[in-house]
Amino acid sequence: MSKAIVVKCPICRSLVKRDNDSFPFCSDRCKTNDLGKWASGGYSIPDNNENFDDYDDNEHKVIH
Ligand SMILES: [Zn+2]
Repeated sequence: MSKAIVVKCPICRSLVKRDNDSFPFCSDRCKTNDLGKWASGGYSIPDNNENFDDYDDNEHKVIH
């Protein structure tokens, strides 16, 4: 009784068996795709510091 462990590929949502070489990705392509996301800064936190300076300009929004 072997219970196949299956997950969904985080990239394309295909079902991936645990014995897949690229687990938890369905294929080498998706694995590379995920790494590419990190490398391109897709997950980086936006730098809001500059925007906060603009809040000093709130006086321009004073209701007449
Ligand atoms: Zn995939």
